[in-house]
Amino acid sequence: MGEKNKVKLFALIGYPVGHTLSPYMYNAAFSKLGIKALYIPFQVEPRRLNQTLKIFKGSGICGFNITIPSKSVCMRYLDRIDKLASMIGAVNTVVVKGKKLFGYNTDATGFIKSVKEDLRVNLKNKNCFIIGAGGAGRAVAFALAKEGVKEIFITDVIKTKAVALVRNIRRYFPKCKVKSTQLAAIKSCHLLVNATPLGMKKTDPLPIDPKNLHRNLAVYDLVYNPSPTKLVKIAKKKKIKAVNGLGMLLNQGAEAFQLWTHKKAPVEIMRRALERRIAETFL
Ligand code: NAP
Repeated sequence: MGEKNKVKLFALIGYPVGHTLSPYMYNAAFSKLGIKALYIPFQVEPRRLNQTLKIFKGSGICGFNITIPSKSVCMRYLDRIDKLASMIGAVNTVVVKGKKLFGYNTDATGFIKSVKEDLRVNLKNKNCFIIGAGGAGRAVAFALAKEGVKEIFITDVIKTKAVALVRNIRRYFPKCKVKSTQLAAIKSCHLLVNATPLGMKKTDPLPIDPKNLHRNLAVYDLVYNPSPTKLVKIAKKKKIKAVNGLGMLLNQGAEAFQLWTHKKAPVEIMRRALERRIAETFL
């Protein structure tokens, strides 16, 4: 088969990957733009990550995403890492060039774009409260620090995780006002971000007691399935602006698509593919 007719392969590495929505979003985009390409999820046990990446280098795979639990560990096996991804300490998108792997983090920029476009919040001079200092919380915290918001408060059930994240942000953004904190600080905040997995399961409790949701807040819930999440429903009931993480998922995917194909992503087609799939899975 000539180079021109070859199907380009893109992949997702994660463990597990059973519930991923990414193939629907990317394959719809390839099809819309007439790109002969396929995006396939691979369930890779963390102990097999290095070996899998070595195989990927010579396999003709053009790019891939990395998700839970290998976003940070994978960095040691990459050839070059973009500055923002190194600061965050996590890579979610890799471009394969010849036998070299180039790592990026598109979660951070995807989040900021969604806050501006979907939640319609101008982040200038805003105080932000993040619940959850795991992989996603880190990307959100660095994104907000880079954006130059007024103050960032971070909480996590494991306090040391929040403290470590604060220390890390101060290292890269010495002027950033950032604190690990308790819930009381939310009173002075304009943006609340749920960066915990709470809300993904029907039986999950809310990540925050609703009495803390005040009128000056806007709520960004990184969870996007089910839609709307319990947190988004309760916030809206209180007449508080709230969105789920679908826009972030979409934007991080659109940026990855552009890094891989050098083409503008058909964002609306990708959004519809995601929404359709979410509706199917929660019938
Ligand atoms: P993670 O690495 O497990 O981090 C979540 C953190 O939140 C953990 O440190 C966890 O502590 C903590 N936590 C759990 N419950 C808490 C509570 N009640 N109060 C404070 N902290 C709490 O997960 P992740 O990768 O960051 O992902 C978090 C969520 O974001 C997931 O639902 C994921 O699907 C979503 N996400 C969405 C997007 C998007 O594009 N929209 C992108 C990335 C992630 P323990 O470890 O002790 O549980």
